[in-house]
Amino acid sequence: MPSKTTDISIKAIAPISYTLYYGTFIHTPTLTNLEISFNTIVGVNSQGVIDYIYKEYHPIDHNSQSPIEFFCKQQGTYTDEDVNFIDISRDYTKFFFPGFIDTHIHASQFPNVGIGLDTPLLDWLNKYTFPLESQFCGDGDKKMEFAKLVYTRVIQRTLLNGTTCASYFTTIDPETSNYFAELLLKLGQRGFVGKVCMDCNEPYPKYEESLEDCIKSMNKIIDHLDDINPEFDTLVKPIITPRFAPVCTREMLTYLGNLSKRKSLPIQTHISENKSEIELVAKMFPDCGSYAEVYNRYNLLNEATILAHCIHFSPEECQLIADKNCSVSHCPTSNTFISSGEAPIRKYLYDYHINVSLGTDISGGFDSSILHIIKHAILVSHHLSMKPVEETAIDCKLSMTEGLYMSTMGGARAVGLEDQIGSFTKGKKFDCQLIDLSTTTTTTTATDVFAWQVPQASESADVKYAKMVDLLGKWVFSGDDRNCVAVWCNGRQVVDKTTTTGVDAKSNGVE
Ligand SMILES: [Zn+2]
Repeated sequence: MPSKTTDISIKAIAPISYTLYYGTFIHTPTLTNLEISFNTIVGVNSQGVIDYIYKEYHPIDHNSQSPIEFFCKQQGTYTDEDVNFIDISRDYTKFFFPGFIDTHIHASQFPNVGIGLDTPLLDWLNKYTFPLESQFCGDGDKKMEFAKLVYTRVIQRTLLNGTTCASYFTTIDPETSNYFAELLLKLGQRGFVGKVCMDCNEPYPKYEESLEDCIKSMNKIIDHLDDINPEFDTLVKPIITPRFAPVCTREMLTYLGNLSKRKSLPIQTHISENKSEIELVAKMFPDCGSYAEVYNRYNLLNEATILAHCIHFSPEECQLIADKNCSVSHCPTSNTFISSGEAPIRKYLYDYHINVSLGTDISGGFDSSILHIIKHAILVSHHLSMKPVEETAIDCKLSMTEGLYMSTMGGARAVGLEDQIGSFTKGKKFDCQLIDLSTTTTTTTATDVFAWQVPQASESADVKYAKMVDLLGKWVFSGDDRNCVAVWCNGRQVVDKTTTTGVDAKSNGVE
């Protein structure tokens, strides 16, 4: 086992042999480019890295050689016995899509999904969130049992929804946060572990820490994650997580800004979610011109910063975020559920050229599926477009391509892994989901696709492309986790729902 630890069975680095995938591959390498590649061969090596791509392979053009024969002959280093082969090429209702990247999710809040409709942010925190997060704290086995229950389930659930990488908030507690990182490795999801940092929680003082305790905890987590990652790969990484400005002293913010610089660690936090929150920040930091300026003052804004929500920014704040190259995590489901507002995403994308990704924001958001968040982002953007025109000249309505981009490449950029995940490109890791829109019965799938809507091999490239775009619409707007039938992270299969007794789905405890 190429790991420094011996007691964790690490699914995401289990040995694998070379695998060829053959069929339709769909991704969004840029914000405006939806690329659909039919009859494509993608080779994934034993490190889980894509090292071979051949588009439009038709045996008839190659002396009737199968893709595997063609590949072995061309490469010379493999025989067909060394190579696994997964072929979905005959069925255009199936396609490979990059794994989703959720850039804002609170693992600890998973039990509160669906609870607290329309409670404003600051009340919602005191009534629902802080009491729940407190249960991960204290001494002894009780909190570990609680963490096992909640953290296992949230990773299982997001994997079943096709999320292969996520940037998580845990709680202020270091032991359960370290355990969460171990679970990510064990279950096979790439992840960022954000121990929440907060040292002045006046409305709920039972749930806060001293700066001294925070420093000790951060050191514990940084050391532990360094220890449990496999030597050749970083699958779990700490992320510096000031909860949000109102619960952090200036000393805490100073420490976290310095820590990020010293250890080259990414940062995530909340900003400009709710108007009362913004007023509170203005009162607490009267010397800073804006909410964004508070984080800037303490060196917390840089190209590795993920800012959740970003709903009520002033033009100056937009410019500051753009200048600092921060990424936005747009959480439309949460923003609607607790009535925070509608973030003007196309303005950020096109007026300011800010990178935008998507977050479920469990449990402010009730939906753990990034597929559904794409849909909600589009709907929220349509609501914005129905309002009187504001200062932007940009059409507010997000396209499906923009939504799919934010869920994959936008997320990859936000977490600093744009050269490793988010699209199907040589040299990237194979983080992938297999989507199946075929309708055999109405009970096993969410989508209803009719025969005439499915591309045919005999049709022209343009017709096939247009039909596939329509099928993508069916997936985004009427699909759900039932359509996500297999998931790979780091080239390893971590979910298999292709048979009713799929080993992984079963061992994950979710039928
Ligand atoms: Zn949040």
